[in-house]
Amino acid sequence: MTLRLFNTLSGQIDELVPADGEALRMYACGPTVYDYGHIGNFRTFLQIDVLRRFLRLTGVRVRHVMNITDVDDKIIRNSAAAGIPISEYTPKYVEAFFEDLGALRVERPEQIARATEHIPQMVELIQKLAAAGAAYKTDDGSWYFRLAAFPEYGKLSKKDLSGMEDGARVDVDEYEKDSARDFALWKAAKPGETSWDTPIGRGRPGWHIECSAMSMEYLGESFDLHAGGEDLMFPHHENEIAQSESVTHKPFARHWMHVRFLLVDGKKMAKSEGNFYTLRDLLLKGYKASAIRLALISVPYRHQLNFTFDSLTEASAAIDRLRTFHERVTTGTLAAGENDEIQLAVKKARVEYMAALANDLNTAEARAPIFDLLRVSNTAIDQGGFFAGDRDVVLHVLGDFDAVFDVIEDRDEEPTRRAVEWAEKSGRRADIAPELLARQGFTDEAIKALVAERTQAKKRRDFTRADQIRKELAEKGIILEDSKDGVRWKRK
Ligand code: AMP
Ligand code: ZN
Repeated sequence: MTLRLFNTLSGQIDELVPADGEALRMYACGPTVYDYGHIGNFRTFLQIDVLRRFLRLTGVRVRHVMNITDVDDKIIRNSAAAGIPISEYTPKYVEAFFEDLGALRVERPEQIARATEHIPQMVELIQKLAAAGAAYKTDDGSWYFRLAAFPEYGKLSKKDLSGMEDGARVDVDEYEKDSARDFALWKAAKPGETSWDTPIGRGRPGWHIECSAMSMEYLGESFDLHAGGEDLMFPHHENEIAQSESVTHKPFARHWMHVRFLLVDGKKMAKSEGNFYTLRDLLLKGYKASAIRLALISVPYRHQLNFTFDSLTEASAAIDRLRTFHERVTTGTLAAGENDEIQLAVKKARVEYMAALANDLNTAEARAPIFDLLRVSNTAIDQGGFFAGDRDVVLHVLGDFDAVFDVIEDRDEEPTRRAVEWAEKSGRRADIAPELLARQGFTDEAIKALVAERTQAKKRRDFTRADQIRKELAEKGIILEDSKDGVRWKRK
């Protein structure tokens, strides 16, 4: 099975296969570490995680490189405001970023590349651009890319650049103007700013050169896929193509994937709108990491995602159904044999699930057959028509589902605990939901002891005590389920 993925460069859906027949070489633009990641950022990283997990499920090896932008205009501005060098400002946010990715179960790329550790590669690329006549130095010692040297500029974003002013320049890392400009490759040192002494002068790199230099360092001059959020298509990715191809004269990335933006309540997320959420904000409100993961991946990457709290509640309910079903199938006592109807339903679910993902990563359509299977199987179990031979195939499909979605195994406790600890350390106790505060320090062991005590109380017919314990647990967000196999408990 081969993934068919929309390619921004060709403007159509193309097959995505490793050109070298071995590993799919991909580069994804990573975070700019000047603050905590917001859910828009994580939507993009999660969708790229879906991509790599699905590729692996179809037997494709992946070599995935992601950069960390640890020097840029915003970082310099914020670290100056905090009165510390950038090397002291960024580590906290790098660490927080990986902790957040871990909470969302986003797999680590095979290679992480930090901008500040690749200055020589960037300088070398700028030297090559200068030699090719595509870069020039200005009086202040900065270096710019000469757009006129790359006639194909605009081929990714399909922008009409006919009104382009020859030689007009822009020195900021991010610019939104539709009209293209010669852009900064290297910015001459300014007093008080971090800079590097290099053969092209003292200064620091622009944002765009970083991704060209680091992607080619680890993946070669041509590679299979380049990914990022839709805002990066222009100018960032367009600039990456210009910088790379002007030197190599080879296609840079063959396939380009752009994840559409996440909106909140139909609007662009912005601190000024009061609709801006980091992952930590949501965890502190009491939403589970798995529910956030599922909500952010369930809308296919090419559709705008309108984030709402209802979508988290829905995701949470869906995860509960999955987990309860998984537990029921795993632990139930089943007679030997098979039910033809279940066997057929499993085959159908698997085919539909794989086909939906292979079709431009349609996560919404991929979910549907799995939940259909759940319904059919639950009915069969209720009616005694579900056997050991059905269990094996059903668990296999659930395994394939979780190879990409990764929400069935409950690992939600730790991210929540860490977020609460972090909030207490950073003066944000007031943001912690009351039910999270109530259950602080309430360990699994303490819960198990109370559950055991309740079972004993019931045995000696002390129902007052048993009810008291149930109530106490409920107040701390622990739900009990009595079943014929004993008592199960879970956190709300
Ligand atoms: P940044 O740290 O701003 O460089 O962004 C990291 C990644 O998040 C990039 O791939 C961006 O395109 C992406 N991104 C930023 N905002 C959003 C959003 N609202 N929705 C989806 N992706 C976003
Ligand atoms: Zn980039």
